[in-house]
Amino acid sequence: MKKILVVEDEKKLNKMICDYLEAVGWETVSAFDGITALKIIRDEPPEFVILDVMLPGVDGMDVLRRLRETAAVPVIMLTARAEEGDKLMGLELGADDYMTKPFSLKELSARIRAVERRYKPGHGGFGKDQIIEYGDLKLDPVKRVLLRLGQEVKLTSVQFDIMAAFIKNPGRVFTRMDLLNVFQEDAYDGYERTIDVHIKNIRKALEPDHSHPKYIETVWRVGYKLAEDLSKEGDAR
Ligand code: CA
Repeated sequence: MKKILVVEDEKKLNKMICDYLEAVGWETVSAFDGITALKIIRDEPPEFVILDVMLPGVDGMDVLRRLRETAAVPVIMLTARAEEGDKLMGLELGADDYMTKPFSLKELSARIRAVERRYKPGHGGFGKDQIIEYGDLKLDPVKRVLLRLGQEVKLTSVQFDIMAAFIKNPGRVFTRMDLLNVFQEDAYDGYERTIDVHIKNIRKALEPDHSHPKYIETVWRVGYKLAEDLSKEGDAR
């Protein structure tokens, strides 16, 4: 059975989440504070983490930051605050998704499944073993790896899915909604701003000079696209 760590200091809510997830087939482990969560992640690594932002002592953001230094485990953040800043910060630190309290356990479970699908090799709608080359980029959808000039570009699963969509459709202009739909089944307007954060992070990982991006172009008032001619400029610095 796969193990999921539920980090939530509200004991009643923690138990509710665990009971529900156990009923749908997970083995659950609870932590009620950040220090314990980090200890569990180190000593008995889970396959998935549900992480509340507001925790006593070391908060959820710090846990996420420290977890991401070593672990590629999928993480869904829970936030009681409706502030967009929190959500964007969580995504920037490498969370895969977030849920605002109060939420339905059924929806949480659906989000977990969606994030899991993204982590599965081969996801992305490409044929098996089909490596796609574009300019000096090479995308392996099976291994879920993006190479630039033969070097791996370190991306999170969401960032990888966005890049896969770009490389599959070079030159196509994607609106923020289009890009949200790439990785989020129930995308709606309110989340559009999160795309800018993902693009910013992809550029940081991918672009030689991320203040002058050569791969991902911003299309004013519309969205983003992959540059149509990557061959001309070479490895401009
Ligand atoms: Ca809390």
